[in-house]
Amino acid sequence: MIYRSTRNNNVEVTSAEAIAQGISVDGGLFIPDEIPAITLDEIKKLSTMKYNERAAYIFAKYLTDFTDEEIRYCTDNAYTDKKFSTENISEISHLFDGTYMLELWHGPTCAFKDMALQILPYLLTTSAKKINCDKKIVILVATSGDTGKAALEGFKDVPGTQIMVFYPEQGVSPMQKRQMTTQEGDNVAVCAIKGNFDDAQNGVKAIFTNDEIKKILDDNGMMFSSANSINWGRLAPQIIYYVSAYATLVADEEIALGDKINVVVPTGNFGNILAAYFAKKMGVPIAKLICASNSNKVLTDFINTGIYDRNRDFYTTISPSMDILISSNLERLLYLLTGKDDAKIREWFGKLSSEGKYEVSDDIKTLLKEDFYGGCCDDEQTKETIKKTYEKYSYTLDTHTAVAVKVYEDYKSATGDETRTIIASTASPYKFSASVLEAIDGKKPEIDEFAMVDRLYEISQYEIPDALASLKDKGIRFSESVESNQMKDFVLKTLGM
Ligand SMILES: *Cc1c(COP(=O)(O)O)cnc(C)c1O
Repeated sequence: MIYRSTRNNNVEVTSAEAIAQGISVDGGLFIPDEIPAITLDEIKKLSTMKYNERAAYIFAKYLTDFTDEEIRYCTDNAYTDKKFSTENISEISHLFDGTYMLELWHGPTCAFKDMALQILPYLLTTSAKKINCDKKIVILVATSGDTGKAALEGFKDVPGTQIMVFYPEQGVSPMQKRQMTTQEGDNVAVCAIKGNFDDAQNGVKAIFTNDEIKKILDDNGMMFSSANSINWGRLAPQIIYYVSAYATLVADEEIALGDKINVVVPTGNFGNILAAYFAKKMGVPIAKLICASNSNKVLTDFINTGIYDRNRDFYTTISPSMDILISSNLERLLYLLTGKDDAKIREWFGKLSSEGKYEVSDDIKTLLKEDFYGGCCDDEQTKETIKKTYEKYSYTLDTHTAVAVKVYEDYKSATGDETRTIIASTASPYKFSASVLEAIDGKKPEIDEFAMVDRLYEISQYEIPDALASLKDKGIRFSESVESNQMKDFVLKTLGM
């Protein structure tokens, strides 16, 4: 299978090249030239396999330049109960009749990003080896909280890699800060930035494009790479859990093989829901893809009008991982919907960067609505949904998943569609204890993060994730804080140069 750039059909690379490079030189994203098929018989076969075996089976369709041994090395190291708190890797809970919560947060950092970031380091180092690149890979991450910790846990002690994470000193929650500053591993470093997330991100970009530093790394047998969601190596692992969830529902006799299901995804960068779209196009019987946004509802408007317009107020919400106005993976969807029209993609995304806005053609608007439904809700509605869901079903939602549940309820009342439905549950409520407690108790909790975790346990009776409980006793390893223009010095110092 070959991969092309969404902005230039003449670019042809293998999956190993796509993963090692991360992004195409023309600024486009790598995408497989055709979507491989999976039959109902194959899905049935998957239903008797463990998660790592299901993953290997599906990866084999996408990573055709990898050997079976290479794929098994990646899947077996990533998807084990040493890293995930459940043998099943992801779990399915029943919310109410015909509605299933696909819990993707049983990994080491309690957010769905673990599903991809646990395997990315193995995919990346294997890819580098395959293209005869024996350099040490240095990963730089700017984070507003979740991605940084998930990347640190993924790359921790992976041979041939080194990772550095930069976070805004005042811009992350106390729990997120503690998660990062206590990080274990011999190849990790964490540094606070005196500034906001944009300063951290700009600082990282400046280092990536600094020829002097690149040369120093090259002379020392190293190269930079990135762990964010434009890398195909982060998207492919997400397709697996949708196929896997369908297989599990069949195995549990919740649905019959071939029955259609809907999928609801709380969306920010459009990566998670795009993975569900790939699962559908492979042949998993998925009917509607329901795209749920918070007050930053640029995607809701896009699905409903065909106009993408980022010129709008930015809201800081209680579902911060969805506070995004540029959903970069939408580019891959539009490339597919236009029948690989790279010229159209260049035109629209050129407009997005120059004017902050583009409008797709009528045929694309029609296609969008065939597969997708878009909806949104604000913080008040999110909190109400957490409270209501807790009272009615004794199920404690995190703030992101609550957005998905609310939008799904709206969808059901608007359409009367009773199709069985999977809702992607993207974070453990313990990760956003303050907002979840405020929603359920009706007032802001005035206690520290660990007391909040205890209070949330009283309410939810969910096992407290070890990963969060054990933070209390871990020593702080990284307390350095630098101006954003000193990030480069931090990188060189950490690399011993
Ligand atoms: C990153 C994230 C999302 C958004 O996922 P995208 O793939 O960016 O759409 C939703 N919920 C949580 C908890 C996240 O961390």
